[in-house]
Amino acid sequence: MSKKVLVLGEVREGSLRNVSFEAIAAGLQIADGGEVVGLLVGDAVADFTQELIAYGASRVITVEHPHLKNYTSDGYSQAILAVVEQENPEAIVFGHTSLGKDLSPKIASRLQSGLISDVTEIQGAGDDTVFVRPIYSGKAFEKVKIKDGIIFATIRPNNIPPLVKDDSRTGEVSSVSVDITNLRTIIKEVVRKSTEGVDLSEAKVVVAGGRGVKSGEGFEPLKELANLLGGAVGASRGACDAEYCDYSLQIGQTGKVVTPDLYIAAGISGAIQHLAGMSNSKVIVAINKDPEANIFKVADYGIVGDLFEVVPMLIEEFKAL
Ligand code: FAD
Repeated sequence: MSKKVLVLGEVREGSLRNVSFEAIAAGLQIADGGEVVGLLVGDAVADFTQELIAYGASRVITVEHPHLKNYTSDGYSQAILAVVEQENPEAIVFGHTSLGKDLSPKIASRLQSGLISDVTEIQGAGDDTVFVRPIYSGKAFEKVKIKDGIIFATIRPNNIPPLVKDDSRTGEVSSVSVDITNLRTIIKEVVRKSTEGVDLSEAKVVVAGGRGVKSGEGFEPLKELANLLGGAVGASRGACDAEYCDYSLQIGQTGKVVTPDLYIAAGISGAIQHLAGMSNSKVIVAINKDPEANIFKVADYGIVGDLFEVVPMLIEEFKAL
């Protein structure tokens, strides 16, 4: 049976996150010919409605309020629950981002629904939709099918391909007015740590360094390679603990989960907690001087060698292309 699916579009730093478009693609599959309603929450989000439609949303609802300028779970849940009450969707999809991870359990509990988090693949459609998600730090995958109630899923960025953007698609845009009250927290200002370049969670190429990089300066060639490939720099917890780089770069079970097209791991041993954050990458290249390093078990291409020789060679080769 076809379904109505509500998909949250996530606006961050003046643009829609790619995972919003991937969530629409997921929504279309679950909808099985039904309707995918995009939802935008913020203080000024009307500019992004057409982009959600261009990526496949049938229509878009906005909830705008000054208190929604900066994310709070209280404010966003009031806005989203008001739209859910009005629209009565049969399924809801968020990105499995920091916001999605924080907000989805709260909304699920208010709706008394289940929650299928961190979905990496969707099989089937409509009532036969099956959600695939990694468990045990990525050592196994489970398949989940919802028999009753609202289907509520968060999808891992970079796993479900979005539709090709088509600006000629049209759809209705409407707004819902919600009186955002009784907020326990209002975020007045967000002061971000300055980060250079591409967002690690959504990067198509990640060049990650581990303890083998040996120092903060040791990360410089990795940054150069990442810049050259239009990617982002990541790190193992070993490198973060050793203060070679900031914890915001940590990838793994207790860091970020990434699924780039290309993951280059330099001087990383491949502990299970690190693999949990990157083993779903499409192509993995490992550079390690120990031929027995665990990282080679998940690598598509392995280079046994000193990263301080191999990475500069890669830089030269890519520069020459
Ligand atoms: P090491 O294990 O020390 O490996 C360094 C590697 O560099 C070695 O394989 C070595 O051969 C190689 N090397 C050295 N010099 C060179 C060179 N010149 N050229 C090439 N190769 C070289 N870890 C994470 O990464 N992310 C997490 O989210 C995470 N969460 C954790 C959660 C828990 C609860 C626990 C207990 C641990 C967690 N860890 C996590 C830590 C994890 O277990 C490992 O300790 C960590 O990943 C090791 O980092 P590393 O591979 O950089 O260092």
